[in-house]
Formats: sequence, C-alpha cells, structure tokens
Amino acid sequence: MKNYRFMFLSGFFILFLGILVMIISYLENSFLLFFIGSFLVVAGFIGVIVIQSLNLFIKDKELEIENLKKLGLTIVKCENCLKDNVLEDQYCIHCGESLGKDNDDL
Ligand SMILES: [Zn+2]
Repeated sequence: MKNYRFMFLSGFFILFLGILVMIISYLENSFLLFFIGSFLVVAGFIGVIVIQSLNLFIKDKELEIENLKKLGLTIVKCENCLKDNVLEDQYCIHCGESLGKDNDDL
C-alpha cells in the first residue's frame, strides 16, 4: 500500500513537472520544451489513472476477503506474501503465487 501511495505521488509530480515545463516553453517560445512538457503531462496523467485504478482493484480484493470470512469460507494464508486467500483459490490474489500445495488433509 505504501508503495502505491509513493507511485501515485510520483505520477502527480511528473504531471506537475510537465505543466511547469509547458509554462517555461511558453515563456521561452521553445517548441522542444513544449513537446517535452506535453509528453510529461500525458505520461503523468496516465500514470496517476493507472495507479489509482490498480489501487482500487487491490482494495476491492481485500474487502472481498473480509466479506468471504464473514460468510464462513476457509481462508488460507499465502506462503509467499502471507496475505489472506480463499482456500478454493489456486493462486494468490495478491502476488500470484500458487496456493495448491497440501490441502488434502483438510
Ligand atoms: Zn501471495
């Protein structure tokens, strides 16, 4: 989560930097700076949107686990990242590690 916040902020920083470069390009009448600035704005904007939607997606998954716990489904911990998963899942929803190891004795 902390990592996502950092990525989100750096996305904003790139966006802000792009706007700044565009302002400078206007003052300097430089087409090259304008090009760099608009590229940074677009990259920052896309970055912020992608990171934000990824973040929401992960939050949804965590909420889902909470609801499944309430429903009485068996939750197993991923051996790789130690996060909760539903027993029926084959792969960890957080890191993608395979969960199906030794569930026979349950
Ligand atoms: Zn995992």
